[in-house]
Amino acid sequence: MNDKKILIIEDERSIADIIKINLQKDGFAVEISHDGQEGLNMALNNEPDLVLLDVMLPSMDGFDVCRKIREKSSVPIIMLTAKEEEVDKVLGLELGADDYITKPFGMRELIARIKANLRRGDYSKTAVEPEGDKIYDFGSIVIDLKRYEVRKGGEVIDLTLREFELFRYLAEKKEKVFSREQLLQDVWGYEYFGDIRTVDVTVRRLREKIETDSSNPKYIVTKRGVGYYFESK
Ligand code: CA
Repeated sequence: MNDKKILIIEDERSIADIIKINLQKDGFAVEISHDGQEGLNMALNNEPDLVLLDVMLPSMDGFDVCRKIREKSSVPIIMLTAKEEEVDKVLGLELGADDYITKPFGMRELIARIKANLRRGDYSKTAVEPEGDKIYDFGSIVIDLKRYEVRKGGEVIDLTLREFELFRYLAEKKEKVFSREQLLQDVWGYEYFGDIRTVDVTVRRLREKIETDSSNPKYIVTKRGVGYYFESK
């Protein structure tokens, strides 16, 4: 056992079962719901370490489930999306999912994604992080690695783990411009798969939370044709 609990919300029983078998083989504890509303309740009450969330579900669709989980919890969420539905991927991320994986997917890829998303989550639970108790103070914005939070004007900003990781990564290497591919590799940990739009959507969400005017960002700045960097004036 690796003592991590994964909640699968997926109404196609054969898919849910095959994921369950493979995750159990890897030492995960697994719970399944075949229904949106029920899955939401389980996500909020059973303290899973990560949620795999299908889009088309009975009683409540995956986007609503995602939105409602995010109102109360920062548990990592990976959306399971259909290949032809390009728009679904971005929408899921905008609603606060940390990641998505496109059906049909291989089990190795799925498990790699799950582990990458759990690694991020671990930092917030452990008192001791690799970087120690560092606090980055940029005037009105403060990044506190010990408490794993970002504060703006003294108020804690509610970020998902991925948003936090991206912000902290850019801030630690301030003024350095990163390509989307590089950010995907360094912050998400993907070398072979992943979609650079994931980075764009996460940047957009971060800006909405952190910037005073997200259409005229002061902290996370776009370098046209290249990528993003953190400005620390
Ligand atoms: Ca479905």
